[in-house]
Amino acid sequence: MSTSLPIFYDCLNCPSYCCTYPRIPVTKRDIERLARHHDITPDEARESFTKQGWTTRERVMRHQPDEIYGSACRFLDLESRLCTVHNARPSVCRGHPEGPNCGYYVFLMSERRDQEDPDLAARAYNLPGEHPRLKEEWEDDA
Ligand code: SF4
Ligand code: SF4
Repeated sequence: MSTSLPIFYDCLNCPSYCCTYPRIPVTKRDIERLARHHDITPDEARESFTKQGWTTRERVMRHQPDEIYGSACRFLDLESRLCTVHNARPSVCRGHPEGPNCGYYVFLMSERRDQEDPDLAARAYNLPGEHPRLKEEWEDDA
C-alpha cells in the first residue's frame, strides 16, 4: 500500500524564487533534452541556454534580468512565474526542493503574515551588490 505524505509548500503561490538561484547546474543529459525540445543540436543548446558554472567543467543555466529578484533563469516566464520548458527542465529542477518543506516558502509565508501582504515577494540576497557573484554573472549574460 502506498501512502502519500503531505508537503508543506505550494509552488503556485510563490514567485519561483528557486528559479533565480545564480547556480542552476545542468548535466549533459539535461542539455540534450533541452536541445530535443527546441529542435536544435546539443552544442547549440549548450551555448544558447547555459554558461560556465562555478567550476571549469560545470554548466549552469543562463539568466535574464528579473524585476522581483534581480535575475532569473532564462526560461522563467516573468509574468506567470512559471517554467516555459517544464517538460524539458533540468533534473535539478525536477528534484527541488527534495523533501516535504521548502525553506523559502516558510520564509515567504512568514513575511506575508508579518507584513500583512498576501502578494509580497520576499527577496533574499540576489540583487546587484547583494550577492558576491551577481555582477559578474550579469556581465556574462549581457
Ligand atoms: S522556492 Fe519553493 S515554493 Fe517557491 S517555486 Fe521553488 S520550490 Fe516552490
Ligand atoms: S529550467 Fe524552468 S524550472 Fe528550471 S530554473 Fe529554469 S525556469 Fe525554473
